[in-house]
Amino acid sequence: MTDCLFCKIIAGKIPSKKVYEDEKALAFEDINPQAPTHVLIIPRKHIAGIDQATDAEAELVGYCQLVAAKIARERKLGHGFRTVYNVGPDAGQTVFHLHLHLLGGRKMSWPPG
Ligand code: AMP
Ligand code: ZN
Repeated sequence: MTDCLFCKIIAGKIPSKKVYEDEKALAFEDINPQAPTHVLIIPRKHIAGIDQATDAEAELVGYCQLVAAKIARERKLGHGFRTVYNVGPDAGQTVFHLHLHLLGGRKMSWPPG
């Protein structure tokens, strides 16, 4: 999608600090990190958000979680990490290309703010 920030990152038109990529997904450092590890995992395919994903995309959605777990292992986040989808205005979603937040490296409170 031409007018999508994360599609532009995938296309290399906007720079990012990549931490993982393969034919299905890309992971890069969040520009405004909320924890020592704050990585975004996105599918290469444009999906507006988890609320827009279809059954045909179930494998891709699950795959993003596995990429997050792989990065968490690499970063030795066994003590605790969180994967988050923000959906809609109340949750603070600002980018409408599916992205999974991987947060770790500090103690996190519950419930989240
Ligand atoms: P959300 O609020 O869930 O839609 O998350 C969007 C995330 O994208 C925020 O955590 C932003 O800090 C992050 N973000 C926005 N622009 C960029 C960028 N150019 N590179 C990396 N992360 C970005
Ligand atoms: Zn996109």
